[in-house]
Amino acid sequence: MATELVAARLMIRNAAAELDLRDPRAPVLCAMAKRFASDVGFSLANDALQPHGGHGYLKDFPAERHVRDLRVHQILEGTNEIIRVIIAREMFRQ
Ligand SMILES: Cc1cc2nc3c(=O)[nH]c(=O)nc-3n(C[C@H](O)[C@H](O)[C@H](O)COP(=O)(O)OP(=O)(O)OC[C@H]3O[C@@H](n4cnc5c(N)ncnc54)[C@H](O)[C@@H]3O)c2cc1C
Repeated sequence: MATELVAARLMIRNAAAELDLRDPRAPVLCAMAKRFASDVGFSLANDALQPHGGHGYLKDFPAERHVRDLRVHQILEGTNEIIRVIIAREMFRQ
């Protein structure tokens, strides 16, 4: 989980650095970073909830809030399906 978190952070920071440099690849790198980090974030929160068993699902503990808060990032600012479409278009652009 820690490894995936580091990988997601590196993708975000790399995309941000390319954006600062006004690299023409920046938009697709940002799309890749958004898709990857939001999917990894949700997966990690979901995995972190599991060892808490049924209690992890209850509002009494913060784990369920983390799962909900990360789930929405797969939908917001361009759903991850649409982000995939954007990345694919860029990959096949002549
Ligand atoms: C809590 C919350 C806060 C929000 N805040 C904001 C905000 O601040 N600013 C803002 O602009 N919007 C905001 N939104 C709206 C959000 O951006 C939209 O919900 C999001 O863009 C998805 O649009 P939609 O809900 O109309 O889903 P739809 O466009 O109806 O899509 C439904 C599903 O079909 C999939 N889908 C659609 N077309 C394709 C396709 N061609 N190929 C594959 N899959 C496809 C989508 O990925 C999605 O899974 C918010 C939404 C929520 C839930």
